[in-house]
Amino acid sequence: MTITIDGPMLEGVLGWMTDEQAGAARAGVLAAGQRLDAVAKRLRGRIGWHGRGLEMHWMPSGQLSIWGSVEAGLDASRMVAFIVELRPSWYFGDRKGSPGWEIAVDVEADCQHSPDHGSMHTVFEWTRSATSVEESIACLSDATAVLDDLASRPLANWVAKGGR
Ligand SMILES: [Zn+2]
Repeated sequence: MTITIDGPMLEGVLGWMTDEQAGAARAGVLAAGQRLDAVAKRLRGRIGWHGRGLEMHWMPSGQLSIWGSVEAGLDASRMVAFIVELRPSWYFGDRKGSPGWEIAVDVEADCQHSPDHGSMHTVFEWTRSATSVEESIACLSDATAVLDDLASRPLANWVAKGGR
């Protein structure tokens, strides 16, 4: 589901918030989504599942995250995906840590090996952790800037990393 000015509520990922916090969080998420839209437009790429901005993802296991991706490439078998995600720290099932969030940027490139591994390879990872809603949204802003920078580098270089 695309995150817009009207919804969905972000508490599923960010936890309970005051009206003020919720408003600031939504403004931050929308701004990050607009930056992603601009990256997609610049690369003539495809954005997410729903065609714009950041999205709320609900996995069958119950995890929720705020997620976005831009896919672009040289051709159908040489695609690169730039992905940003804001997720609770327990997202991958680890409940031992203290409450918090992880903010991640991944770059994935189509496999260029022979024989083909049949999936994309993660060729770059950036992560930060946050312990408050405000810090999470600040990290999301940083992450989107990182994604924008990574997506400004030649796509051919990213594609080549899928064969290493
Ligand atoms: Zn491979």
